[in-house]
Amino acid sequence: MGDFTLDLNDDQRSVRDWIHGFAADVMRPAAAEWDEREETPWPIIQEAAKIGLYSLDFYAQQFFDPTGLGIPMTMEELFWGDAGIALSIVGTGLAAVGVLANGTEEQIGTWVPQMYGDADDVKVAAFCSSEPDAGSDVGAMRTRAVYDEATGEWVLNGTKTWATNGGIANVHVVVAVVDPDLGTRGHASFIVPPGTPGLSQGQKFKKHGIRASHTAEVVLEDVRIPGDCLLGGKDKLDERLARVREREAAGGGGVGAPPAEGRGRVKNAAMATFEASRPAVGAMAVGTARAAYEYALEYATGREQFGRPIIDNQGVAFQLADMRTQIDAARLLVWRASWMATAGKPFSSAEGSMSKLFASETAKKVTAQAVQILGGNGYTREYPVERMHRDSAIYTIFEGTSEIQRLVIARTLSGVPIR
Ligand SMILES: Cc1cc2nc3c(=O)[nH]c(=O)nc-3n(C[C@H](O)[C@H](O)[C@H](O)COP(=O)(O)OP(=O)(O)OC[C@H]3O[C@@H](n4cnc5c(N)ncnc54)[C@H](O)[C@@H]3O)c2cc1C
Repeated sequence: MGDFTLDLNDDQRSVRDWIHGFAADVMRPAAAEWDEREETPWPIIQEAAKIGLYSLDFYAQQFFDPTGLGIPMTMEELFWGDAGIALSIVGTGLAAVGVLANGTEEQIGTWVPQMYGDADDVKVAAFCSSEPDAGSDVGAMRTRAVYDEATGEWVLNGTKTWATNGGIANVHVVVAVVDPDLGTRGHASFIVPPGTPGLSQGQKFKKHGIRASHTAEVVLEDVRIPGDCLLGGKDKLDERLARVREREAAGGGGVGAPPAEGRGRVKNAAMATFEASRPAVGAMAVGTARAAYEYALEYATGREQFGRPIIDNQGVAFQLADMRTQIDAARLLVWRASWMATAGKPFSSAEGSMSKLFASETAKKVTAQAVQILGGNGYTREYPVERMHRDSAIYTIFEGTSEIQRLVIARTLSGVPIR
């Protein structure tokens, strides 16, 4: 495992420049159109697939980059291009991580390729954890998975919401309750294969930002899936549940106790996915923030008022100085967390949450400042910072809100079950 370094190597630099070229030449010019259309930009996903930028191979390469910087570098460049289109391209990755985090080698080999399809027939995947009454409170999840001993199948029932690519995905990864007495530790993840009867798309949401990314409810009605669609397999699940029950019986960590990170507890299925993905979300936020900052810097240099460029005023220049400082600080936290995750170092101070918290709040702040620096132009859809500002609001909400990140950090640091 490599030491922590801020120097991208030659290979990484050339990959970054290649992604940047796609972001600048293909995504940027199409961003306003797909934002207005509020539809999945299939032609752009296909273009990305044709050059290998939407493929299992590419993301696996970045995911297993020993420096840990492959994924944050990729996310930053794509989201610099456009957040909505980028989420359509990388949304599949959350489902893929769900399988990588919890699945067997065989399951990874079978299902992850089907999530991406190929350049001639691109597919997307969805990770379905959130429910109408179980957002931050994952323990309130109601979707049930019941094992049918007679057929060896699992039967899923429930309603998922806010699923990126929900209903249009080839493969859905669904988190469900297998033992309601065990709270979040009684959850497991399942693959719902393409075309499985009983899975349907519910409401498609009209959103504030990232409008090129499809977000919808997923309804599961007596969805029957083969036994081997339980990620990790039944033996492993039975062992894990037995361990949890043993601990409960011994009085360790009540079912209502908050999930804690880095304290050796049994992880639940959704937490394992979110832990791995938080620094990546931080990197997305860094990309959007950097895009808005760069635009505002150029604008402030060219726009004249009172006979001089507006950047000549400290009031504007200092804002830009703060914006850039915060973006760089956010990137450092993201890179640290990504390196730690790759190096197998536990987030003993909730470093993953720290990176997501700081980067997402930075993106909201920086894009708002960019709107302000552009004045009236910043408030119109003629200029991209308006869209970037709307897009940035998602980062403090999905994959754990800022409040939940603070809760995780505070609990991890103190060991106190803070509410
Ligand atoms: C565009 C979009 C895409 C998404 N994609 C996916 C996806 O692909 N898969 C998926 O499973 N989910 C997805 N989500 C769901 C997302 O993860 C949830 O929206 C998020 O976890 C928050 O849950 P909630 O919306 O129910 O808000 P709530 O949990 O109802 O929270 C509302 C407010 O209360 C605050 N709050 C709640 N509890 C506490 C507490 N204990 N202490 C302090 N404050 C608290 C929250 O921070 C928030 O400000 C997506 C959401 C959106 C909007």
